[in-house]
Amino acid sequence: MSQAGEQGTLFVISAPSGAGKTSLVSEMLRQDSRLGVSVSHTTRPMREGEQNGVNYHFVSRDEFEAMIARGDFLEHADVFGNYYGTSQVWVRETLATGQDVILEIDWQGAEQVRRLIPECVSIFIVPPSAEALRQRLVGRGTDAPDVVERRLAEAEEECRHAAEFDYLVVNDDFSVALADLLAIARSHRLTMGVQQVRHASLLSGLSGRS
Ligand code: GDP
Ligand code: ADP
Ligand code: 5GP
Repeated sequence: MSQAGEQGTLFVISAPSGAGKTSLVSEMLRQDSRLGVSVSHTTRPMREGEQNGVNYHFVSRDEFEAMIARGDFLEHADVFGNYYGTSQVWVRETLATGQDVILEIDWQGAEQVRRLIPECVSIFIVPPSAEALRQRLVGRGTDAPDVVERRLAEAEEECRHAAEFDYLVVNDDFSVALADLLAIARSHRLTMGVQQVRHASLLSGLSGRS
């Protein structure tokens, strides 16, 4: 249960495509019940195995542009020629319930979110090498060869923005990277500002001020 006034923390996670962020985030959600993930809207075609409303809300360009015009997005960006965007209402309402929220978004979106919500915690994930990134993207088997090449070319641009993030996680051994991410979430929750709100009545009772 969230205490009155408790706001969840917003975690922004970016990585070059194929670095492993979707796999890592889905395992974080299984292991940490205080985390939820925002389901983005996108105009990219659905991959085999993906489900509308689960991996993304898949919409047409016309629908996406109407949503931009209505101000439905907290942030949106053109990534690899497709639109991607984060629902403003869902994120704000979920944070207001005290739940922590993860956004899996590109560096352009991260830049916008940092400006709007400066207290967010941002994490950049990298693969152990450029070669490993290629192998993962090819091995995932979800994108055509030309799409893989485009994503690899864009990976360099994404990585040029790594220093703008609060944390850097190297996804070499999956379980180590996962433990690092869970540790970031856990240690952030223990910071004084967050704990003072969560345990306000405990602190005032212990200090004889209740
Ligand atoms: P994958 O994450 O590489 O498997 O590929 P996706 O097609 O799922 O995502 C493509 C790019 O769009 C990645 O850089 C994501 O971080 C980014 N992206 C996904 N959702 C959003 C979003 O809601 N907003 C923004 N700005 N970028 C997003
Ligand atoms: P992203 O969401 O960043 O594009 P994915 O989570 O789809 O990345 O991961 C890309 C591919 O790499 C997937 O096939 C995934 O199973 C694999 N993968 C992820 N992390 C590792 C790792 N530490 N070692 C080897 N393969 C990995
Ligand atoms: P994919 O098409 O492989 O699912 O995702 C490609 C990239 O789009 C990923 O790097 C992901 O972070 C980014 N992305 C997904 N959703 C969003 C979003 O809502 N906003 C932004 N800015 N980027 C997103």
